[in-house]
Formats: sequence, structure tokens, C-alpha cells
Amino acid sequence: MMTVCLYGNPILRKKGRRIDTVTPEIRQLADEMIDTMHASEGIGLAAQQIGHDLQLTVIDIPDSIDHKSRMWIDHQPVVIADFMPMVLINPKVEGTKKKDSASEGCLSFPGVSVEVRRSSRIEVRALNLDGQPLHFDADGLLGRCIQHEVDHLNGVLFIDHADPETRRIIKPDLEALRAQGQAQISS
Ligand code: ZN
Repeated sequence: MMTVCLYGNPILRKKGRRIDTVTPEIRQLADEMIDTMHASEGIGLAAQQIGHDLQLTVIDIPDSIDHKSRMWIDHQPVVIADFMPMVLINPKVEGTKKKDSASEGCLSFPGVSVEVRRSSRIEVRALNLDGQPLHFDADGLLGRCIQHEVDHLNGVLFIDHADPETRRIIKPDLEALRAQGQAQISS
């Protein structure tokens, strides 16, 4: 299992580099990310969180925690479980103007949760691990999780979406985390 980078580690603010070719190294990295995400009981993990500035993220939303997400390919509903775990390379997301608010956590911010407004439904274009194009729509927790991960790939963190009052409340937690994250780099 790889170590998850904590807030304070500057890699989390780096925009991921585009992946031009899906090499065996990228496939192995994605496999290790899936293992790390599962071991950490997360539902998504971005390359930055394991120390790589790449446009690569993995997602796995088990049926047991979420029955409400929907996914469509060519406007036809599909069974989400058939696509999990999901690997997205160079993802681009377009979201609806309609937004929903929900509480989010992040493996790089243990113990911190923040209410985040995100598009209710998204359209996603990416490559899969075979280098083949993926194009689908998603809503619910799946749509939210993908928006959270794609933010990571651009160096954006969920706390950036917090309102000023929430920022004030979580400030001590963030300061403690930042010290841990910075210790990670120097160790
Ligand atoms: Zn995160």
C-alpha cells in the first residue's frame, strides 16, 4: 500500500500532466492506486495523493454505500457496478448549472468534512486503462466523486469550496494536518 499524501504536501497543489500513452507503468500505478484506495476505505483517489502529478484517478463506489447514483452511456442507463473500479485518464468534466450540496471527506484530510456544492449531473470524457475513449453521464455520489477527483488533478482541493464560516471552523484541523503533511516531505 502506498502512503497517501496529506494536506501540506505541495504535490496536492500540482496540476497533473496529461498522459499521452498508457504505458505498463501507468497500468501498474493505477493498480496500486486501486489497492491503496481500498485499503484506506476511500471511494476515490487521485495521482497527486500518492505523489504523482498526472491526469490519473481511480474511483470505486460500492453498491453497499450508494444505490442512488446513476450513469448513462449514449443516454442509456447502465449498471454502475459493471464499471467499478473505474480508472479515468485525462478526464474532462462538464457539469450542469443545477447544483447540490453534500458533505465530503478526503483521504488527504483525515477527520475533516466540508459541505460542498457541485453540479448535480456531469458529462465525462476520458481515456480508460486500455487507452480507449470513455464518454458517459453521471449523477449522485458518482458524479460528485468524479468532480472531487478531477479537482485534485488540477490541484484544487475540496476545502477550496468551503464557505468562510466553515473555513474558520476547520482552520485548527488544517493547521495540524499541514504540519503532518510537511513532515511527510522532509522524512
Ligand atoms: Zn480528495
